[in-house]
Amino acid sequence: MKVLVAVKRVIDYNVKIRVKADHSDVDLTNVKMAMNPFCEIAVEEAVRLKEKGVATEVVAVTIGPKAAQEQLRTALALGADRAIHIQTDERAESLAVAKLLAKVVDEEQPGLVILGKQAIDTDNNQTGQMLAALTNLPQATFASEVVIDGDKVHVTREIDGGLQTIALTLPAIVTTDLRLNEPRYAKLPDIMKAKKKPLDVKTPADYGVEVASKVSLLKVESPAERKGGVKVASVDELIDKLKNEAKVL
Ligand code: AMP
Repeated sequence: MKVLVAVKRVIDYNVKIRVKADHSDVDLTNVKMAMNPFCEIAVEEAVRLKEKGVATEVVAVTIGPKAAQEQLRTALALGADRAIHIQTDERAESLAVAKLLAKVVDEEQPGLVILGKQAIDTDNNQTGQMLAALTNLPQATFASEVVIDGDKVHVTREIDGGLQTIALTLPAIVTTDLRLNEPRYAKLPDIMKAKKKPLDVKTPADYGVEVASKVSLLKVESPAERKGGVKVASVDELIDKLKNEAKVL
């Protein structure tokens, strides 16, 4: 079974986000970029399926600028067999990404597609769902456990009330939640080997998909600075502050 994994290049989660002085966007100058953490979990799950002998090939795909090949090389170092880069400098929105991924699904015919539940830059949480709609494949979002059983995949999902387990007929689409696994670190020899693994470069036009954004970004603002907290000496003082300063009682 072939597993297709979608990975996105985003700002490293350790970086403090800066907004451009003119508020037109987030400032990406000299900012460390990395693979979206939920996509790392997706790659890890695909590689584990290969190590268990369930998957035969792991293909990583990204849509983004030339530099996004760094994240594909990371996926290859973590154990993916080959990669597809759909290169664009446009801000590719979820629907365009899902349309491109649907074309790749059509071409590659994977048994399983794994995406992150959300990208931590835009927090959209919709690409997997859109891909399921476009390909008409069954979907299990927010997976915390994935077990392949013949032509079925049993997925435990993290939902508001607890855990839900569902069975989907393959081929299917799964999006990863935080507790699915703990991704490994790439080892130096694997990083070297990854440089020689195949990486196909395509364009959205090769798939006949228009990625030009239909949404204009009007303004980006940092969240309001939080005021420092204070320690109170007694419950009476706390109640007094809540009543007379915060005016919430
Ligand atoms: P989102 O719906 O944007 O929050 O993203 C959810 C998941 O969709 C990500 O974790 C990726 O697996 C996939 N995805 C989103 N954007 C891209 C992209 N530009 N290239 C590849 N995969 C993407």
